[in-house]
Amino acid sequence: MADKYDVIVIGAGPGGYVAAIRAAQMGLKTACVEKWVNKKGKVVHGGTCLNVGCIPSKSLLEASHKYTEAKHDFGDIGIDTGDVSMDVKKMMARKDKIVANLTGGISSLFQANGVTALEGTGKVLSKGKVEVTHQDGEKATYDADNIIIATGSVPVEIPPAPLTEGLIVDSTGALEFQETPKRLGVIGAGVIGLELGSVWNRLGSEVTMLEAMESFLPMVDKDIAKETQKLLTKQGLDIKLGARVTGTEIKDNEVVVQYTDGKGEQEQTFDKVIVCVGRRPYTQGVLDDDAGVKLDERGFIFVDDHCRTSVPSVYAIGDAVRGQMLAHKASEEGIMVADIIAGHKAEMNYDAIPCVIYTAPEVAWVGMNEQEAKTAGIEVKTGSFSFAASGRAMANNATEGVAKVIADAETDRILGVHIVGQHAGELIAQGVIAMEFGSSAEDLALTCYAHPTISEVVHEAALAVEGHAIHMANRKKRKKQKA
Ligand code: FAD
Ligand code: NAD
Repeated sequence: MADKYDVIVIGAGPGGYVAAIRAAQMGLKTACVEKWVNKKGKVVHGGTCLNVGCIPSKSLLEASHKYTEAKHDFGDIGIDTGDVSMDVKKMMARKDKIVANLTGGISSLFQANGVTALEGTGKVLSKGKVEVTHQDGEKATYDADNIIIATGSVPVEIPPAPLTEGLIVDSTGALEFQETPKRLGVIGAGVIGLELGSVWNRLGSEVTMLEAMESFLPMVDKDIAKETQKLLTKQGLDIKLGARVTGTEIKDNEVVVQYTDGKGEQEQTFDKVIVCVGRRPYTQGVLDDDAGVKLDERGFIFVDDHCRTSVPSVYAIGDAVRGQMLAHKASEEGIMVADIIAGHKAEMNYDAIPCVIYTAPEVAWVGMNEQEAKTAGIEVKTGSFSFAASGRAMANNATEGVAKVIADAETDRILGVHIVGQHAGELIAQGVIAMEFGSSAEDLALTCYAHPTISEVVHEAALAVEGHAIHMANRKKRKKQKA
């Protein structure tokens, strides 16, 4: 019998590694099991987020954005760059270096905090017992007073578009292209589709996005989604809504995609196709028949509001459980669970989790959109403010976008903040903090913001809730502010 732990975490993504570090900080004897093997055959920490998700995608988004700015925008501000070109292989090498640095950093954090890293595949045998199968096939069983399952998610595959090496790929494959495809098809105009579609569009691909739904980004406030669609279309993304893929064929190293839309059956040929139609929870092999941990009807590990599973002292967090599939949601659940195990009271506020799409400009939101609030029977008042009226946005050559504050008409409490515009992913923290503190729109409106900052756009949107935005000249819009 191997060592006994207070906590064993299975999975070292942003849910699991954060939970393990927090548990160790709380004085609990903690181990974390991870099976992710990198291209060099080494077990690495960080999960989807660090290896094939948030970090590599943002590295490519930033590189391709800088390229676009240098190629198309620097001239506007008087910088003559001459010919600008992108070395895709160098861009990829930089991305790989960032990933290696960060994943290695987690191992250092484990050491610094006294977390034992167990390499191999973890399985919950029963309450209090975890089996680890190491890379060489050796098995060891560990006792643990508490178990946290943080096994994450994997991409959804669809039968009409089976993955085909180098031609039809998922998000992981799309982070590895070594050259820019001339014609790129993207199935699914969700978060991944828009981010990775943007990367390759900026580098010169003709990008067509086939989205099954008739509406664009339905979780985002309609005004903001409409503005986003307009801006991304202007950048060259051909977004086809109501386009349902029915089949694919490989012909002469090209991908022919068949789909149906409002006009009937269509066909389009691409050099590469990315399938990004959502992710599903990954629980394969982590639960022994005797574990007793229940799944819900969609295959997620069933948990309550405190991430407790159906078995006492077994918890589950992150993408493997209900809720948004976001790194920071996984991490916060990890912290909550570690604190509960350590004997503290802990809660998550699932109503104040920010979402960001890292396009340029970024799209970010927290809480309800206007339509959701109305559907819930809440009377709302809203205030919007355009980036075009911000002095700092003008100075930054970034005047595209709108910020919108949605408040309860009766209490003035902020229900949501939705933004498209430069730094929206940073600006949204204001909405999150305001909602965490139960603020009213007036609280934001009465707050003193530094000038000139992009943040003032949020301030003006909050002022606009009562029709009091200062820098809004258009009389009609001023009247509409209170609509
Ligand atoms: P994961 O990160 O998936 O980690 C699970 C870990 O568990 C993995 O390392 C896996 O190897 C390990 N594991 C599984 N089973 C076992 C087992 N039996 N034994 C041992 N180990 C096991 N989210 C954001 O918030 N912001 C972003 O910008 C963002 N960008 C993304 C971009 C892309 C392309 C993708 C694909 C995702 C992105 N996400 C983003 C989503 C984010 O990556 C996930 O929400 C997050 O990684 C979930 O964390 P997790 O810890 O639950 O799971
Ligand atoms: P998604 O749910 O965001 O988008 C998938 C899209 O595919 C949807 O719009 C859906 O209608 C469409 N779709 C589904 N089936 C289809 C079909 N057969 N044909 C055409 N379209 C179809 O999922 P995703 O973009 O794959 O991302 C997965 C998860 O990863 C998301 O939940 C997201 O939260 C997370 N993620 C987050 C970030 C971020 O925070 N910036 C970035 C990437 C991924």
